[in-house]
Amino acid sequence: MLKKLIWAIFLLALPLHAQDYFFEKYHPFNESIPSPETFLGYPIGAHHTRHDRIVAYLERLSEVSDRATLHEYGRTHEGRRLVILTVSAPENIKELPALKERHLAYTQPNAQLKPDPELPVFINLAYNVHGNEPSSSEAAMLTAYTLVASRNPEILNYLEHAVIFIDPTINPDGRDRHTHWANMYQGKPLVADPQDAEHNEYWPGGRTNHYWFDLNRDWLLAINPESRGKLKWYHEWYPNVVTDFHEMGSRSTYFFEPMKTNGSLNPIMPRENYEDLNNLFGEYYSRALDSIGSLYFTKEVFDGTYPGYGSSYPDLQGGLGLLFEQASSRGHKQKTTFGEITFPFTIRNQYTSSITTVKAAVENKDYLYKYQQDFFSSAISNAEKSRIRAYRFGATNDQNRVKAFIDKLLIHKIEVYKAENGEYLVPTRQAQYRMVQTMFETYDKYRDSVYYDASAWSVANFYHMKYRPVNSFSKGERVNNTE
Ligand SMILES: [Zn+2]
Repeated sequence: MLKKLIWAIFLLALPLHAQDYFFEKYHPFNESIPSPETFLGYPIGAHHTRHDRIVAYLERLSEVSDRATLHEYGRTHEGRRLVILTVSAPENIKELPALKERHLAYTQPNAQLKPDPELPVFINLAYNVHGNEPSSSEAAMLTAYTLVASRNPEILNYLEHAVIFIDPTINPDGRDRHTHWANMYQGKPLVADPQDAEHNEYWPGGRTNHYWFDLNRDWLLAINPESRGKLKWYHEWYPNVVTDFHEMGSRSTYFFEPMKTNGSLNPIMPRENYEDLNNLFGEYYSRALDSIGSLYFTKEVFDGTYPGYGSSYPDLQGGLGLLFEQASSRGHKQKTTFGEITFPFTIRNQYTSSITTVKAAVENKDYLYKYQQDFFSSAISNAEKSRIRAYRFGATNDQNRVKAFIDKLLIHKIEVYKAENGEYLVPTRQAQYRMVQTMFETYDKYRDSVYYDASAWSVANFYHMKYRPVNSFSKGERVNNTE
């Protein structure tokens, strides 16, 4: 009888603990909240999860817990939902509008605020901008579950001091293209041979969105609904820390920032971002990955010079953008020259970095707020040092082109005014001075001749806009939309 009872207890306990490979550290969990495995019907890593199932899971979490709410910030070209799950302590969730107001005060130049110990840090954990780099959206579900269901004191402490915005899939159309491929060609037993169809997606693959646009270049250009929805959300919340999870070639390990130093030095960025914040957070990731025995490297590759990456745009908005690159299993299991790499292994590294990001942000909350405030204050002081007081532009023969360009300025919250003769004016002395520089300035001196990719992004020139810097101006009515 005792034996039977022990077996019964063991079997009952099994589903709850089957995914301990990922979150053993964060027990106990609230048993009334479904784990991803319970909800999906398979353990995380066994299949690739469709985006609608990911959204349905996050929706369920928001229904059963007072720690979470779900917000839709847009729809993709193919009609998939773009969502953010907001997670925090229930008392923070209740007070969110007031907390938001206090948080946004740090983005006002010269606000001269002291650190506020009661104010949570705002973190945006964002995943899967490249659809065929799938580990991170699976990690997003594990992270959401941990934050919503764990009763471990460590997690409860994070929830008290952080508001975490989980964007599980930035590119759902691309993700589902790849998800379908990987599940369709999955073998039973799994086939690790790199030549197998499962590991060799046909062109165009799932990296890009519906129109095969790389959304990880679209943060500046803002062409697609995924980026436009995200930018609108971004300028409502100005998170202190933003993650951008990727995968790279299979014959590698794991990468986190700092990036390659020379290529990354965008001259308009505060050096503190590269030199202090990245190193500070890097120490956290290195300790966390050591603790699970995963290999990693930093500084050797990648750069954040181009402002339209998901890991560089937040740097231009007073936050800390963080790139992660996991060696891909591209499929469920693949043989490489360094041994076999499995899908659950890649997911565990991304999950570990997700929770570690929350830890690092909470433990350096005051510093991140001071940095955010200094960033926007220095926008004004830097503008005052420049002889350029404003940019004037216009193209009277093509109002549609002017309208499209103004739309770009407005989506980045750049102030635009009417000027004489049908022209427009952008003053340099404004909180978004660095975006004004990004749009209008051109550079011809670089510290390095090697780039990850984009090295030019003068948006005014993309639009063939006639513009000129001016030393004095009188501005007319403010332009708030292009309707
Ligand atoms: Zn990528």
